[in-house]
Order: sequence, then C-alpha cells, then structure tokens
Amino acid sequence: MKLENKLKEIVEKVVRGEIKFHELDTILGNSNEATLVRRLALEKILGISLTNIAFTTIDWVEVVGRNIENPIGAVHIPLGIAGPLKINGEYAKGEFYIPLATSEGALVASVNRGCKAISESGGATVRILNDGMARAPVFRVNSIVDGIELINWVNENFDKLKAEAESTTRHGKLVRIEPFMVGNNVWLRCIYTTGDAMGMNMVTIATDKICKFIEKEFRKAKCVSLSGNMCVDKKPSILNMLHGRGKTVVAEAVIKKDVVEDVLKTKPEHIVEVNVRKNLLGSARAGSISFNAHFANIVAAIFLATGQDAAQIVESSMGYTWAELTEENNLYISVTLPSLEVGTVGGGTRLPTQKEALKILGVYGSGNPPGTNAKKFAEIIAATVLAGELSLLAALAAGHLAEAHKKLGRGLIWKSKR
Ligand code: NAP
Repeated sequence: MKLENKLKEIVEKVVRGEIKFHELDTILGNSNEATLVRRLALEKILGISLTNIAFTTIDWVEVVGRNIENPIGAVHIPLGIAGPLKINGEYAKGEFYIPLATSEGALVASVNRGCKAISESGGATVRILNDGMARAPVFRVNSIVDGIELINWVNENFDKLKAEAESTTRHGKLVRIEPFMVGNNVWLRCIYTTGDAMGMNMVTIATDKICKFIEKEFRKAKCVSLSGNMCVDKKPSILNMLHGRGKTVVAEAVIKKDVVEDVLKTKPEHIVEVNVRKNLLGSARAGSISFNAHFANIVAAIFLATGQDAAQIVESSMGYTWAELTEENNLYISVTLPSLEVGTVGGGTRLPTQKEALKILGVYGSGNPPGTNAKKFAEIIAATVLAGELSLLAALAAGHLAEAHKKLGRGLIWKSKR
C-alpha cells in the first residue's frame, strides 16, 4: 500500500513535468516499476487507457539498457505457424515448423501451401555462399596520394588491425577489409564473421578499435564517421547485392508437375512465365534493384517473430527469384538472398516470446560449434522465402490472388461459414 502511494506520487510528478520519463528507471531503481509509472503517467497526460499495451510477460529489469529505453509496455503481433517444411541444408536438415508474426491475412496460409508443395517434392536444398557482417568507417585524407598510401598501409598491417579488432570479442573474426575511394575520402569496409550473433554491435565495437589504431599509427588519416554508409546497414544497396552482408543464401527445389497442379492449382510453365514477366522484366522496367515477388513478407514475419533487427528487413529481403522448366517439365525454382542478416544470440533474441519462436526452429542461443545455429536459421529463412515465393507466383499464375485476399484478408471465409 505504501509503495502504491509512493508510485502514485511519482506518477503525478511525471504528469506535472517535474520528473522526465527517462529519469524513472534511476529514481525508482526498478525498471518494472518505472515502466508502470511511465504508462500510468502517459494515460493521464493523454486521457486514454493503455490496458492492452500493459499486458506483457517481459521483465523490464532484464530488457532496459539492452533492448529499449522508456518502455511503457508491448505491442502484440499475431503469430501463425506454417509447415512442416522439408529442408536439405548443410545446417538445417529435416522438417521445420515456421513461426510467422504478421497482421497480413493470407500470408501464413500461402507460405503453408508453398511448404506443402516443396515438402511433397522432396524438400528445399539450401546453401550459404558467403558469411560476413560489414562496418565501413569513412576517413578523410589530404590527397588521393595519401588515400592510396592509407589503403596500402592497411593491406600491409592487416594482421595488426585484425588483432586490435579481435581484442574486443570472442566470436568476431576480421576476415578482410575492402577499400573504396572517392577523391580524398577512403572507406574501409571491414568484414567479420560473428558466430551466432547478427553482429552489428560486435563489429561496430571492433571497428572502432581499428579506427583508433589507424588514427594513432597513420597520422594523415582522420576517421570522420565510424559508419560511412558503405556498410550498408538498413538501406537498399547494389553493394550488398554484389558483395553480400550477413549471410548470402540460395535455396532451390524441383516441384513435380503433378504437385504444381494438385497443390498449387496451376502449371509449371505458367509459374515460369509469371516469374519472367513480373519478377524479372517488371522489376527491371521499374528500376528496382530487387527481382522477387515478396521476399519481404516472409523475412519480415520471421524477423518480427524471432527478435531480429526489424530495420534490417530492408537489405535482408533483397534478392532474386529464378524459375525454369526441367527436361521432364517439372518446375525448377530458386531464391537467392545476398544479404540476410540474422542471429540466434544478442539483440532481441533474448525477449521471452522471441526466444520461444527461435526454439520452435531449434536454433535458440549458441550453436555447437558457435555460428552453426545462425547458419541453420539463415537456411530455414531462405527455404521459407522459397515457399512464399512459389505460392504467390502460383496464385498469380492461376489468377487466385485477389480471391484469396478477399477471403483471408477481409474475414469472408469465416463469415461464409456462419
Ligand atoms: P550483441 O548482443 O551486441 O553481441 C552479441 C553478444 O553475444 C556478444 O557479447 C558475444 O560475445 C556474445 N556471444 C555469446 N555467444 C555467442 C555466439 N555463439 N556467437 C556470437 N556471439 C556470442 O549482438 P550483435 O549481434 O553484435 O548486435 C545486435 C544488436 O545490434 C541488435 O540489437 C541491433 O538492433 C543492434 N544494432 C546495432 C548497430 C550499431 O551500429 N551498433 C546497428 C544496427 C543494429 P563476444 O563479443 O565476446 O563474442
């Protein structure tokens, strides 16, 4: 009771502006109480009720200082399940159920249909072609001569720079540094493997050490910004499409003709035609740098379910869909994701519901050896993207897209059953 009165008093002080939202965690020494007070104060200030936002299993003591500032509660996104999806990866082997967080009706049903078609045809083969998280600081030098000297110096001193970077982390390993130059500006794109972490904090901390070492040892260079936008984080880019960032993953499947007809209600040649005219030609005509139907739908739904950095959906959902007929007139289909940035430790993966979603996939936490969980996770995502792509292309080929969204996006399927 005493505590309640104390909190009520603090709520009033926040409402009067005597205490700021961000001061509450320190003043109360308890982020669960701070979250409650912030929300109650906001309710009073705005004259609204936030009872749904209040409802969560998150322990704010665990989360403030790592994942959020000024929390007031949580938003809920519906979570659906698709699968089983048969995957023949190097790390993901077997059948998987896929958690998808979305409010877009028809998405889970569509991915589920794609999973069925792939699994009935023997599964998706998946491989990781490249693995490396990038941070690219930009340096100012006096002239292009100094810029070239800096690049040569970096190449000659790579081992020293690697030792500096790796002194900050057990799992981060500097693999290479890609230099770029524009006039008297030099970018050093530092690429690391990051174990099971997506790695953005890890490589930022490690690259900061590199920058400080360069400024000390190569006095003619000044680091203007630890991120020089050639990383490229949270922006679409041709650089990531070509060089990759995070995991570069390819998934493929051969869908038997009768499975295309029975499960997907169309024919292989119609899917091939839609892919060429829509994903390839349509994207080219639009000046798009990404040639697919809806990678973002699947990547976003898995990212939200599993605590990935949502803003990295931008580059993680770039990629290509390729489809052709096999000699037996079955459908060959593949998806290539050059820049899939995912982790099974760190970031939002430790949040309670996100952790459970990773457990559904059998990839929560550190892999044994480290790095294998994140790679398994990347393979599962690529296979699921393949399922989503296959199903949407089939719906378009069969002319079913609008009908499916009418039924599953506007509640008509349930209304018709009443
Ligand atoms: P992190 O949680 O900052 O780092 C991962 C931590 O897990 C490290 O302390 C690492 O230790 C430890 N770890 C334990 N087992 C591991 C294993 N098996 N593999 C790898 N690491 C292991 O996560 P992060 O992935 O580097 O960064 C993700 C966060 O960065 C997200 O919250 C994202 O939103 C945020 N982010 C940051 C920036 C930025 O510029 N800083 C930009 C975009 C996003 P060791 O380091 O000792 O190996």
